[in-house]
Amino acid sequence: MEQTTWSHTRLEALFECGERYRLVYRRKAPRRPAWWFVAGATFHTAAQTFDLLGGDIVGHAEKAWDSIMAEAAQREPDHAQWLSAARGATGETLRQQVLEWCRTYEQWRQQNGHLRCVHIEHKIEFTVAGKPFICYIDRTFVDTKTGEPLLVDLKTGSRKPESVEQLQIYARALAAAGFHCGWGAFYLARTGELTTPVRLDENYATLDVKVKAAQLLDDANLLVPHPGRRCATCDVAQFCTVIGGAQADQYRE
Ligand code: SF4
Repeated sequence: MEQTTWSHTRLEALFECGERYRLVYRRKAPRRPAWWFVAGATFHTAAQTFDLLGGDIVGHAEKAWDSIMAEAAQREPDHAQWLSAARGATGETLRQQVLEWCRTYEQWRQQNGHLRCVHIEHKIEFTVAGKPFICYIDRTFVDTKTGEPLLVDLKTGSRKPESVEQLQIYARALAAAGFHCGWGAFYLARTGELTTPVRLDENYATLDVKVKAAQLLDDANLLVPHPGRRCATCDVAQFCTVIGGAQADQYRE
């Protein structure tokens, strides 16, 4: 059997709802497009192109939006079927919001010229508790005023992250790759703010516990469903055997 490669997203999926984990990671069920995904992917692509090549960030975003929308429309052409956050914008209104996030990111980068980009979308593969683990770190900067490195994850959601665990994991990944980074923060695209940088532990041991627990649950097929408020925005709800999705029989074990 192929060894599972763990990631922050995959761990979150398993612990949030085992049924969704089964459908997405094991059965590869098709996921309903979501407006928030189109917005987030557009912002990330435009910001990445801008940081790598410079140029017109809004132009990069317009191109990215068109291509991400086209890919999502292949899966579900009817936009009315796409998921959207409660009171979240869709369509042209959302596109204009994303273009504004991009303009604000460009301003933030200009106003913080002392943050020199050293890694962009940095892929790191390493081992945690003897298991393969993969990370994609949005940015690592070095503050040229202090010489301190700072890792940054770009967020486009409307809520602030509940914890800094993702940053802790990334600090550990960077250390495994030989780059020591003791500080991390989130950049919040909707407001153009960087959260207050926090001290990071590059030996973050909770990750070993989580990977060991996840591997045990996965191997034993103990995928515990968590029906609840997340079901309303679940991208595989139509296949879910727990809430009786309309096409649940297609992926029943
Ligand atoms: S609909 Fe709810 S219970 Fe079913 S997979 Fe999605 S989150 Fe889990």
